[in-house]
Amino acid sequence: MSDDGADAADEADETDAAPPTDRHYAEWLDALADGDGFALVCPEGHGSLPPRRVCPECGAADLSREPLDETGTVATYSVVHVPSPRFADDAPYATAVADFGPTRLTGIVRDGGADDEAPEVEIGDTIAVDVGERATDGERLVVFRPAGGR
Ligand SMILES: [Zn+2]
Repeated sequence: MSDDGADAADEADETDAAPPTDRHYAEWLDALADGDGFALVCPEGHGSLPPRRVCPECGAADLSREPLDETGTVATYSVVHVPSPRFADDAPYATAVADFGPTRLTGIVRDGGADDEAPEVEIGDTIAVDVGERATDGERLVVFRPAGGR
């Protein structure tokens, strides 16, 4: 009978919750928004993010939570002028891939400039990571902000 109680609790918990993988990513966004961003680092030192359970580089399942570096370096970026519908109100915008130590993140660049101008970003820029909302539908996403010298 204790099983029934557990099952009921599980079902209640999942009724309107996102799928587990989305939930793990949402929890990671929560941590990031609280300034407690972390990466999952394997024994070889490769970094990845939830909902990963094994290292995407070497397959190790022994992942430990390590604090995410406060700043990262832009590895590549692209400016989008003609967006997909989900980003219709965000364009023009720039997506960037940045390395935070061993961990690679993808996010949207926001430099605080005018909405109708694409943000300025260059490979090698130092950026900080934050959680923002997509202008189009309010969906949370990873946001990069310039953090280099001026
Ligand atoms: Zn690894």
